[in-house]
Amino acid sequence: MSDPLRKESAGIIGEKMGQHYIPYGRQLIGADDIAAVVEVLQSAWLTTGPKVTDFEKAVAESVGVRHGIAVTSGTAALHAAMSAIGIGPGDEVIVPALTFVATANCVVYEGGTPVFADVHADTLLIDPDQVRKKITPRTKAIIAVDYAGQPCDYDCLSEIAAAHKLFLVADGCHALGAEYRGRKVGSLADLTVFSFHPVKHITTGEGGMIVTDKSDLAERLCRFRNHGISSDHRQRENQGTWFYEMVDLGFNYRLSDIQCALGISQLKKLPEWLARRRGLARLYDAALADVREVAPLTHNGDNQHAYHLYVVRLAEQTDREQVFREMRRKNIGVNVHYLPVHLHAYYRNRYKTAPGLCPVAEKTYERILSLPMHAGLCDEDVRRVVSALGEAVAGAGR
Ligand SMILES: *Cc1c(COP(=O)(O)O)cnc(C)c1O
Repeated sequence: MSDPLRKESAGIIGEKMGQHYIPYGRQLIGADDIAAVVEVLQSAWLTTGPKVTDFEKAVAESVGVRHGIAVTSGTAALHAAMSAIGIGPGDEVIVPALTFVATANCVVYEGGTPVFADVHADTLLIDPDQVRKKITPRTKAIIAVDYAGQPCDYDCLSEIAAAHKLFLVADGCHALGAEYRGRKVGSLADLTVFSFHPVKHITTGEGGMIVTDKSDLAERLCRFRNHGISSDHRQRENQGTWFYEMVDLGFNYRLSDIQCALGISQLKKLPEWLARRRGLARLYDAALADVREVAPLTHNGDNQHAYHLYVVRLAEQTDREQVFREMRRKNIGVNVHYLPVHLHAYYRNRYKTAPGLCPVAEKTYERILSLPMHAGLCDEDVRRVVSALGEAVAGAGR
């Protein structure tokens, strides 16, 4: 099928450079996805209908767990997870310093305190030794983030969680389809959260899901996304009753059938897209082996990486800002993931966090760059990115 976005960006953004814009991430929508959405638009259920349940079952099954609870975003999924495990004022939750802000924000939503742990310099995954150091009598949970799509050291994190009676929550927003020692991300923590934002592996426009094997948590999550009400509209319809009871305070975080139909259709293509992302990573690895100033993050051999991002570290004497600007000038959508959360103005103001708290994350952050990585890239795109990067770093020595 033709690719309208690509044509459009080639025409508008790429014109002056003569080469189309390559974004760091983007969705792939096919005729099958469009047909699936149209079918729902013509059906009786636009929301809280059968497609929601089907999508939940399909995602849960794909990662090998019993329950999936669809919500409106990955952020809503994190929020629901914090509520389900009972985070409240006075509770501390350990999160990695280098992640998207939502990983820490969800703790704040429920009145808890995020405590930042440093990461490994070579993988940017949370460092279990740093987690141990941050545990206090108030610690209630750890949120592990599978940065870039590589699973954390779950055996070690589970051991720490068990020893201190903590919940282990996985922010798997980068890692749908990843595996750790033969086990799927989604089956490695008490609760695992996924996002279906367009830059993630599969999309529903906006959307998210929590997966778990624990029935009591699943029940709480279902209530939380529906105002804290103990039954949903379809269940009442089926039972021929109007009565419902609100038992907790919840939100309207329901994902629609329109979105879930798109998700079901997208999920069918996940294996193929994961294989493509892994193939692109191998191309990058091979091509970058010759570029002295650029080092990809380490990929641990005991896992299957999902490559949401392809992140490289630039040499210390290379000026990242100059490389960033030069790549953007060449219509290549490089990006930086992420400014460490504790350095954001909000956290500095509210929690008095400051540079020095997580030195590895802070230092490595200044050298990282995310190269384009999505299933719609062709081999020629990778060659263009690598050649532009080679030129950019050559001109950005300090
Ligand atoms: C994308 C992402 C989220 C938030 O997901 P949304 O669907 O955008 O709300 C949370 N954590 C991480 C690590 C993410 O990459």
